[in-house]
Amino acid sequence: MKILVTGGAGYVGSACLRHLKQHGHDAIAYDNLIEGHPSAVGDCELIIGDIADTDKLTKTLNDFDAEAVMHFAAATYVGESVENPEYHYRNNIGGTLSLLNAMRKAGVDRMLFSSTCATYGNSPKVPMSEDQPQDPYSPYARTKLAVEWMIRDFAHAYGLGFTLLRYFNASGASRDGAFGEYHNPETHLIPIVLQTLLGQRESVKVFGNDYPTADGTCIRDYIHIEDLASAHLLAIEATTRQTAEVFNVGTGQGQSVLEIIESCERVAGREVPRQWAPRRPGDPPALVADPSKLKTRLGWAPRYTSIDETIATAWRWHESHPEGYGPR
Ligand code: UDP
Repeated sequence: MKILVTGGAGYVGSACLRHLKQHGHDAIAYDNLIEGHPSAVGDCELIIGDIADTDKLTKTLNDFDAEAVMHFAAATYVGESVENPEYHYRNNIGGTLSLLNAMRKAGVDRMLFSSTCATYGNSPKVPMSEDQPQDPYSPYARTKLAVEWMIRDFAHAYGLGFTLLRYFNASGASRDGAFGEYHNPETHLIPIVLQTLLGQRESVKVFGNDYPTADGTCIRDYIHIEDLASAHLLAIEATTRQTAEVFNVGTGQGQSVLEIIESCERVAGREVPRQWAPRRPGDPPALVADPSKLKTRLGWAPRYTSIDETIATAWRWHESHPEGYGPR
């Protein structure tokens, strides 16, 4: 299949792009490089462009003769979305509107959308199945939920097969050690803990110790990036022009912030300095997937089942790439 990957130079987009290529698909990346890195694309083709540029997107889809789109391009920082919602609404909702229009013009009628467990927000039931009520807790999560609805409405009115993947916390690095998680500025827990272990930060701030969880810190479901990529491959291959599907993508296991720090300590063999800090606005207490639908319907089977194994891949990459992908 010929697949255009928006946000293909980002952490998750690039992992999926490479996975598609490794499994015989013809995939290219489309990325504005504001948050993505050319090195993450490896030897795949990269078109530098913004999803807001409908004409460029349409031309790219036409020139490439695309059959499907995987849509990752988005602003993703929860904290930033609270401080600067305008950027998130413009980029995520406005950008997706532009993409959907470009797809209509180019006659591309299959898509996979990178949505998030954060759309469940404060939902009381953990683990979460796909039919759980969505109650997004941050502007970022609200933009993702709005885009889910936009895609459903476009599919209904104009004809579009789609799969929505709501994923939990993407983590780890490729098994061969070549690609890993690098954001600048970094806001994600695992890279921050590993940077602290490398002496690049003085300590880890633990955001909140009064959540209604066993140790008072937030619980998340940390899924290895390669298992996330394999879910995308299965999902896009199963998406026809008639598909209207949604899957949670997570391990089904939750770890608290303190448990993640302890896992990093076990993997690296030394202690991580930490300090308590106030809750980070927009963070729900616990997000854990019930991935049974993905397993039974698409036959997905994760390769990484222990958090230490996932963190070990991240640690190898951080040790060998202390400056990440370097300056852009
Ligand atoms: N977190 C933390 N300290 C940090 C970064 C993150 O305590 O320096 C917490 C954050 O509040 C959340 C969890 O770690 O509960 C995972 O955050 P991350 O940003 O990695 O992913 P998110 O769940 O926001 O997508």
